[in-house]
Amino acid sequence: MIDVINLRKSFGGLEVLKGINITINKGDIVAVLGPSGSGKSTFLRCLNCMEDPTSGSIIFKGVDIADMKVDINVHRRHMGMVFQHFNLFNNKTVLQNVMMAPAYLRCKDLKKAKRKNRMIRFKNIFRSNKEEQIPITTTKEEIKSEAKQQALELLKRIGLDDKANVYPSTLSGGQKQRVAIIRSLAMNPDVILFDEPTSALDPEMVGEVLDLMKELAKDGMTMVVVTHEMGFAREVASRVIFMDDGQIREEAPPKEFFEHPKDERLKEFLSKIL
Ligand code: ADP
Ligand code: MG
Repeated sequence: MIDVINLRKSFGGLEVLKGINITINKGDIVAVLGPSGSGKSTFLRCLNCMEDPTSGSIIFKGVDIADMKVDINVHRRHMGMVFQHFNLFNNKTVLQNVMMAPAYLRCKDLKKAKRKNRMIRFKNIFRSNKEEQIPITTTKEEIKSEAKQQALELLKRIGLDDKANVYPSTLSGGQKQRVAIIRSLAMNPDVILFDEPTSALDPEMVGEVLDLMKELAKDGMTMVVVTHEMGFAREVASRVIFMDDGQIREEAPPKEFFEHPKDERLKEFLSKIL
């Protein structure tokens, strides 16, 4: 699904990613471990084009999205991102947070199709072989009502449908993060990128967020997860990678990764945290 080829990223004179190569297949759960400052967040941000890579390719479903010429927004829709600090819109209700982006994007598509059809109608006046109109089977109202329905179902799935009309500030950290996760799910992404999704949570709330992530994993969602949760990496990940100093130093299935680490720096890292 994603092929990262020799990805490099510098900020000014500081080279943060020094040639990352990895393939992420459909259904993979890739856990990314590594010390602070090793480039994990930068790697995720490059994956979904929040940062422009300095060089290298990111082939996502056959298209190099590191290429400046492609329309990143079209591809970014298919990649969800969940952050350490939830990043919910505090001035929107929980329901609005979940339904907003899909409703907005589908309405935008509808508008685009209508504009295109107007152009076609106009051009057809002067043509002998008429161009087909784009079939339009929905309305703005329908889109909004569908997005709302879907958002309510997702909220129900995490047991928060009764919180639909409250503002995020009234939720616990664990609830906020679970809303952030279903918000990214509402876009029907091909892959969800998680950047330390449990690091800002009180310990008693970590479990509920990890449980939801495990459910997504079981449903076959492709996930890249930067985490310090070794239990999650061990039990849920299909592969674990260790990043240090802007490079992937080790990549292995969890059992091998934790029981037979090869890289010296990984051994040292594991000895500190396990
Ligand atoms: P990690 O997530 O592994 O802790 P980061 O990707 O956040 O690491 O950061 C890696 C390095 O890149 C750090 O030295 C950090 O200071 C630097 N860095 C990250 N983002 C920027 C930026 N926007 N501008 C300059 N330096 C940055
Ligand atoms: Mg980080």
